[in-house]
Amino acid sequence: MIGLIAATAAGRRAAVDLAESLGDCVLYEEGSVSASLERAWEECAQLVCFLAAGAVVRLVAPLLEDKRDDPGVVCVDEGRRFAVALLGGHGGGANALAATVGAALGAVPVVTTATDATGVPGLDTLGWHTEGEVAAVSRALLDGEPVRLAADAVHPLPALPANVRADAPAGAPAIVISDRLDAPAAAPGSGAAVVLRPRSLVVGVGASRGAPAEEVLGLVEAALAGAGLSRHSVNCLATVDAKAEEPGLLEAARALGVELVAYPAERLAAVAVPNPSEAPLAAVGTPSVAEAAALAGGGELLVPKRKSAPEGRAAMATVAIVRRPPRGRLALVGLGPGARDLLTPRAREELRRASVVVGLDQYVDQIRDLLRPGTRIEQTGLGAEEARALSAVHLAEQGHAVALIGSGDAGVYAMASPALAGAGPEIDVVGVPGVTAALAASSLLGAPLGHDHVSISLSDLHTPWEVIERRVRAAAEADLVVTFYNPRSRGRGWQLPKALGLLAEHREPSTPVGVAHAVSRPDEWHTLTTLAGLDVTTVDMTTVVVVGNTATREIAGRMVTPRGYRWQAVGERSEEKA
Ligand code: SAH
Repeated sequence: MIGLIAATAAGRRAAVDLAESLGDCVLYEEGSVSASLERAWEECAQLVCFLAAGAVVRLVAPLLEDKRDDPGVVCVDEGRRFAVALLGGHGGGANALAATVGAALGAVPVVTTATDATGVPGLDTLGWHTEGEVAAVSRALLDGEPVRLAADAVHPLPALPANVRADAPAGAPAIVISDRLDAPAAAPGSGAAVVLRPRSLVVGVGASRGAPAEEVLGLVEAALAGAGLSRHSVNCLATVDAKAEEPGLLEAARALGVELVAYPAERLAAVAVPNPSEAPLAAVGTPSVAEAAALAGGGELLVPKRKSAPEGRAAMATVAIVRRPPRGRLALVGLGPGARDLLTPRAREELRRASVVVGLDQYVDQIRDLLRPGTRIEQTGLGAEEARALSAVHLAEQGHAVALIGSGDAGVYAMASPALAGAGPEIDVVGVPGVTAALAASSLLGAPLGHDHVSISLSDLHTPWEVIERRVRAAAEADLVVTFYNPRSRGRGWQLPKALGLLAEHREPSTPVGVAHAVSRPDEWHTLTTLAGLDVTTVDMTTVVVVGNTATREIAGRMVTPRGYRWQAVGERSEEKA
């Protein structure tokens, strides 16, 4: 819940607006502002104060306890110009809240936490449990001092700055990534250390009906401790379908703060395990529950099946623990047609989420300034598409967070399909849609894609000309609006006139044709002409050519394809009037 505190009429209006747009907010009005703030401080995880920053500093000073538990505090000025993350930037979520409040009220979010401001990822923002001296290690990170990275595997982390190295000198502050309780020893002789707990462990659990939660949880904790593993690295509990609603398992999962995942018995029966037995086969249809459920998603068995040992009665729970290798992450990121404000916020975020960026050099240049310092860049020239796509997949398979970039949308005549054709199930894939050249051109020309349309690439490098020609003919017959990609290059001149000729067999010479060059880039230009009037020599490889269908019209200098018969009639009437 977010507590809102306001002192003036304008502040209260802003608070009401914010509550309407966010929900889950309470406006505290306890008589005095300080009483309101004290009460909200007790009751809320986050506060938004419609007060001057200085006033809030004075009011919260006596209430401060611990960076980890204090609420996140955001201040908004009287004019709603700024939303300032004042306190609890990471732990209290104030940085994110400032962004949310900013978006809701049209205010500029102001974030001063060093790690966010300089492009170094905050150690406590990875979504992993952190232990140890976060502040000291973060300071060393930011000051550019050598920091040792001791990771048990390659994890899909965002780029870390160049001062973070596996071979930093002994005594350097350390970032340790491990599910092992003795992990700080992985960085011998180091000074301050932060231990990050990756979510690497799957705990398979079996239970008889009515097994008490304490028995399950006690067994899980004993198994983890016995193997020297951190409970904060538990990713999920896993069991068989028939036990998905077993209260003791659900309660144990809740206590660990993870999900209970259930697999069908047939799936578990197919998993090879070291300790199968008759009892579960008869009861639920698989010779192993704990081991098979832990192993069902792959990984290494660290703790083979163990039973609970309650006093004075038979065991009701079994457990087994598996470590799964980290899953690399491949983001397929469309950068849009060129202009920075046509790059989506999500694409920006993925670029900063990656430690490796793979792409054509000209696209890398387009976004280089957005990358975190330390981002590895794998750029190649034109013509190496397949190799580029496969190298991105290969890096993700090694566990890295990779962004494979392309102009427009990465899935349209671009790298996403060769990459996914070569990718297996062991990596996570995230697609970020981009504004395609066809859409950007369409906006520039008017509304040429208002009815059914198709894109056709005229490049016969990857596709035989006969296939392209068959598709152009089909589009001509089906009266589709056509956007031609890769329309004409220095070495490829005859395809565009040929394709236009095929369309002309079904369309009037006066059919509108839009030509859009370098859309949203500094050398952008566009023209509206006709099938008969198009000068193909103006068309190059940074151009798309949009050919209207039989209903497309030029209206007031814009290319418009009516949505259907009735719209067409309206369009014609307005043309008659003109
Ligand atoms: N993935 C891209 C297409 C890549 S194919 C997309 O979704 O848009 C390359 C072709 O796209 C070029 O030959 C050209 O026809 C077109 N193109 C790309 N960017 C363009 C731009 N800014 N303006 C006009 N055409 C563009």
